[in-house]
Amino acid sequence: MAYLVLARKYRPQRFEDVVKQDHITKALSNALTSGRLAHAILLSGPRGTGKTTIARILAKCVNCESGPTATPCNTCSSCLEITSGHAADVFEIDGASNNKVDNIREIRENAHYMPAHSPYKIYIIDEVHMLSDSAFNALLKILEEPPSHVKFFFATTEPNKIPITILSRCQRHDCRRVDIDAIIDHMAHLCQQEAIDISREALTIIGREADGSIRDALSLLDLVITSVSGPIGMEQIMDVLGGLDRQSLFEMSQAVFDRDAGKVIDIIDRLYDRGQHMVKLFSEFIEHFRNLLVVKLGGGPRILTNVPEFEQQAMHEQIREIPKIRINQILDQLFKEETSVRFSAQPRLAMEMAFFRILQMPPAVSIDTLIEKMDAFRKGFSEASAHVNSPGTVQKEYSGESELQKSAFNSAPAIPAIPTNISPGASPSSQPDIPVSKISEKDQPGYSTPGSEKKTSPGEEKEPDAVKESGPQKPFSSTPETDSATADPDEPAALSWKNILAVMALEQPSLKSCFSESTARKPAPDALDIAFTATQFNINFAQKPGNLDLLQSICNRYFGKEIKISFSPRLLETNTSRMKKKEARLLETEALSHPVVEEAMKLFNGKIVEIKLLQEA
Ligand SMILES: [Zn+2]
Repeated sequence: MAYLVLARKYRPQRFEDVVKQDHITKALSNALTSGRLAHAILLSGPRGTGKTTIARILAKCVNCESGPTATPCNTCSSCLEITSGHAADVFEIDGASNNKVDNIREIRENAHYMPAHSPYKIYIIDEVHMLSDSAFNALLKILEEPPSHVKFFFATTEPNKIPITILSRCQRHDCRRVDIDAIIDHMAHLCQQEAIDISREALTIIGREADGSIRDALSLLDLVITSVSGPIGMEQIMDVLGGLDRQSLFEMSQAVFDRDAGKVIDIIDRLYDRGQHMVKLFSEFIEHFRNLLVVKLGGGPRILTNVPEFEQQAMHEQIREIPKIRINQILDQLFKEETSVRFSAQPRLAMEMAFFRILQMPPAVSIDTLIEKMDAFRKGFSEASAHVNSPGTVQKEYSGESELQKSAFNSAPAIPAIPTNISPGASPSSQPDIPVSKISEKDQPGYSTPGSEKKTSPGEEKEPDAVKESGPQKPFSSTPETDSATADPDEPAALSWKNILAVMALEQPSLKSCFSESTARKPAPDALDIAFTATQFNINFAQKPGNLDLLQSICNRYFGKEIKISFSPRLLETNTSRMKKKEARLLETEALSHPVVEEAMKLFNGKIVEIKLLQEA
């Protein structure tokens, strides 16, 4: 017997065998069982998704000797004739080659005669959109008043080319693209029946190449089976199809994440040798990074393009440590470079240059991370200078500058005095007068200037543990006005809040800046409600767990007990463009006067080139 290609040998003969078009087969089955099958049915959809197959099964359903039924027997003479393509009452017409008005006229004339020995005369017109205008007009005539023994089943890949007058007389069903996992499963099932040893990775390559078409997948599978003897793995598939192996994609993304230029060149070189089309390869890379970003953003398998299930795990693994902003940055750059690769006379060179530019991009850091880093840096520096300034080391020499400090400052001349130098145990003369007194006078009206610090409260001395060891960061704990470690219970909430902000300014300036427009009230003795107006970014930043903890700790220390903190944030209005501009200006001023920015400028001896308003993620 002559060899039958897989697509023909395994062409579905029943509705339940059709892959992934349940929405259509169910609707048609229901129509058949309830006796409401339309006289003209249009099946549209991408090539190789089962349109003609469904039309043939439908013909069997209608003409089966036990029919009309949703489950044709496939054994009666009518079913067998349809399967073999020799049925006297089923006419399969190719619309592309029979597109003239005369062809349709012939159909019209024939249609009026009764079927030979089946209940219905069935016309299956494939690629019906190819009919000429006059042919469509001729067809319209018979669709308007069809004889009761005639059914029309149309199939098309381009329903948009069919006149609306025809469309409105057909019941339309749209076939969907078949997802890659379904294609792979289907091929695996057939290979099992054919006793063909083929790896799932190899099937994945075929599935990707097929791009949603079952028929294409089976044709490629046929090609591979006939070309390879013995077990079929990745290597054999690569030899036959010359497709891109998935491993290379993952290697490439890893090399880009590692900024390994040598590896990138190696991979491109290897794929070039293998005969890969460079422009297509670049598109594959873009799609791969797009899928990685989708995975990073938590997107489900449905929105991943051509990614089989087992690869999604590998994607998760690869990007676990990579920030999404970095993947986004790479994808963005790949898109920008696409035109240069596509239209280059030397696409390989263009692709290499594109990847070089991507590797040279400075790592993108989210503003959150930046602020955290600056704070950490600042804190580290404060601690270092506090250590330098601590009693027992060089504290007594502070009338001038300690040698240690001098040397520290000499090595970094631009570093300014950090306001957190106050140490509770330090003598008044040891207080650097600039930042602390400034803060004390301006922001801490409830507190005396450091000059009166001698009267360190007994309560504090008794309980040094109650106040955390890092003394320099708690100016209030050493002030005489609160005669114990706790604040005066009668103190107005506004004053307490002002003092707390002053401490926050020392401990984490970026957090304090979130509360630039804020008030506080005490709904209960152990509760503090903070109302503040800020941008969405600032509101989010203030309520980040780490920052919340810090605020909690400052408040607890200040009041000497556990305080319940609640927020009443109010978003800065951004409705109109005027408000937006105003907010932008506000942000700009905020950025410019932000202590971290100021400090960064001093530390790195920098200048502000541009202030960009970034969209919040
Ligand atoms: Zn039958």
